[in-house]
Amino acid sequence: MDTNAPVLIGADTLETLVANIFRANGCDDAEAGRISHHLLGANLAGHDSHGVVRVPRYVEWQQAGYILAGQSADVVTDGGAFALLDGKFGFGQTVAPQATALGIERARKHGTAVIALRNAGHVGRIGAYAEQAIEAGLISIHFVNVAGSVLVAPFGGTERRFSTAPFSVGVPTDPPVVLDFATSRVAEGKVLVASNGGKPLPHDALIEPDGRLSADPHTLYGDYPPVGPRNPANGLGAIRAFGEHKGSGLAFMCELLAGAFTGGGCSGPVDARGRIANGMLSIYISPQHFGTDAEFRKTAEDYVAWVKSCRPDTPGGEVLAPGEPEARLRAERLAKGVPLQPDTWEGIVRCARSLGVATPN
Ligand code: NAD
Repeated sequence: MDTNAPVLIGADTLETLVANIFRANGCDDAEAGRISHHLLGANLAGHDSHGVVRVPRYVEWQQAGYILAGQSADVVTDGGAFALLDGKFGFGQTVAPQATALGIERARKHGTAVIALRNAGHVGRIGAYAEQAIEAGLISIHFVNVAGSVLVAPFGGTERRFSTAPFSVGVPTDPPVVLDFATSRVAEGKVLVASNGGKPLPHDALIEPDGRLSADPHTLYGDYPPVGPRNPANGLGAIRAFGEHKGSGLAFMCELLAGAFTGGGCSGPVDARGRIANGMLSIYISPQHFGTDAEFRKTAEDYVAWVKSCRPDTPGGEVLAPGEPEARLRAERLAKGVPLQPDTWEGIVRCARSLGVATPN
C-alpha cells in the first residue's frame, strides 16, 4: 500500500472543519467562514500550496499575535477614485476582500479605481480577488509583495532579494480569463512538497550561492529531518525569479508598487519575530464606463477562441487560456473531493484536536 497516497476529503467536510478550527482559535463565525472558504477555494483551483495546508501556520500566527482576528482595514487616504488602506495585520481573507469591495464600489462610481493595501495578513490566492472583481463586471490588475519574506534571487544574482511577489489580472469575459502566479520560478509551497518526497522541482528552480542551478530543496532549507518543519532561513540558496530578466523585472515592480508605494515595506531582512505581511496595489477598470463593454467582450471572447484554436505543440495537447486549468479542476474537485497529502491532512487533524475541534472519522 502506498502510504504517501493522497487522502480524498469532501469539499464541504473540509470547509466546515477549517471554519471550526478558526472559530475555536478566536475568530467570529463570519471571519472563520471567510478564511475557510478562501483556503478551500485555493485547493479547488489546484493551488494546494495556498490552500488548507496553511491552516496550522495561520493558527500559530494568530496565537503568536502575528495575524489578528476581528480587524477591518483603516482608510489612511481617500481620494475618491483612489485610496490607501492599512490592514493592521488583520486576516488577509478579511482585509483583502474589504479592499477589493472598496475598489469595486469606487470603480462603479468613477469608472476606474486604484486601491493600495498594506499590512495585510497573508492574503492567500490572489486570483480570488480578481474573481471578486470579475463578478462585478470589472477588469482588475493586482501587484502583490510579501514584506518580511525574502526567498527569491533576482536575475543575474545568487542572493535573496525578492519575496515570491504574486501578480494577477482578471478579465470579465465568458468564461473569465484569470492570470495569477508567483513571480518566483516555483512557489515556496512547491519546494516544501518536493522536500517531503512529492513532485520533484524543475532542474533550474533554485540557485546555490556559487551560482549552480539546483532542484534540491536543501538549497532553500539547509539540513532538515525526513519529517518535520522546514525553515527557509536555514538554507544558503534561493528560489530563482521566473522568466529570466523579464519575470525578475515584474517581481521588482511588485516589490516597488505593493511594498514601497503602499508603505507596507519591500521584501528585506526577515522581521525578527518572523512576521510577514502582504501589500497589494490593485487597479479596477469598468468597461461599461469606458463605453466599450459590448465591443470589448465580443473582441476578447473571439480572440480567446482564436488563441485556443492554435495547433498544439504535442499530439493530444491543447492551448488553454489563463484561468482554464483552475476552472476545470474546481469542477472536478467539487464533485470528487480534494486530494491532500497525508502529512497535510494529519497536520490539520492535529491542529483541530489541539483546539478541541471534532474531526471527521
Ligand atoms: P502557477 O505556476 O500554477 O501558474 C498559474 C497561472 O498559470 C494561472 O493563471 C493559470 O491559469 C495559468 N496556467 C497554468 N497552466 C496553464 C496552461 N497549461 N495554459 C495556460 N495557462 C496556464 O502558479 P504559482 O506561481 O505556483 O502560484 C500559485 C498561487 O500562489 C497563486 O494563486 C498565487 O496568487 C499564490 N501566491 C500567493 C502569495 C501571497 O503572498 N499571498 C505569494 C506567492 C504566490
